[in-house]
Amino acid sequence: MNTVMEIFDTHLHLSEELDNDELVRRAWDAGVRYLLVCGGSWEDSLRARKFAEHLPNVFFAAGVHPHEADGFDGNTDVFRPFAESRRFCAVGEIGIDTYYGFSGLEQQEKTLREMLNLAREFAVPAIIHCRAAEGSLDAYGICYRYLSEFAAQGGTFVIHCFAGNVEWMKKFAELGAFFGVGGMLTFKRSDNIREVVMQMPSDRILLETDAPYLAPVPFRGKPNVPEYLPLVAYKLAEMKGVPAAEIAELTTGNAFRLFKRARR
Ligand SMILES: [Zn+2]
Repeated sequence: MNTVMEIFDTHLHLSEELDNDELVRRAWDAGVRYLLVCGGSWEDSLRARKFAEHLPNVFFAAGVHPHEADGFDGNTDVFRPFAESRRFCAVGEIGIDTYYGFSGLEQQEKTLREMLNLAREFAVPAIIHCRAAEGSLDAYGICYRYLSEFAAQGGTFVIHCFAGNVEWMKKFAELGAFFGVGGMLTFKRSDNIREVVMQMPSDRILLETDAPYLAPVPFRGKPNVPEYLPLVAYKLAEMKGVPAAEIAELTTGNAFRLFKRARR
């Protein structure tokens, strides 16, 4: 184990089954020193803020997840107070999901548009969820439409857990996109993901768990926790043929550049 690693988990969710304070302590011991908790609804964003504000090096994002779009009444005013928190650093998790389609597409697009407007107003990055229907890349085209307009107006963003192809990765990279890389990198059948990650510009790669989902091998199928994130750093280091500490330094530096937080 390399003790100098300072990894930034740029995307996780609080989960009711886990002791979240304990989770932060264990993450710290594993070298995961910065955490960004994403909100998926107004209520969830409130929980994320409360959690971030009582622990050092924990940041949060507020937003409406595409799964929650149908339940969102369009009232963005209630999100404004989040911007006053010193730990607030992004609008997210927001985006398009045609894989599950838990919310109607029209409502998902409307919500995404409103949330991107908030990110612009607060001058913070957006954290994007983009998941396409099986055998399709439809969600990428839809996200691209909104994000190209957002980027043209100075907006910055990360596509978390990027699972698109090389062509889409390059199109988004041209807009200045950052890409979240997580546990899928370690999955046996994720050659396609590894191929795309190898072609990502190094200065745009962020590490993330998406905890409690997508635990890396050998914990696949179990609830994911930030302390597992070094496994993703090791995998990426092995793929690139560089020391894991270098991956940690690179990706943590990228995260601070995107989220504009002074590193302590
Ligand atoms: Zn997420």
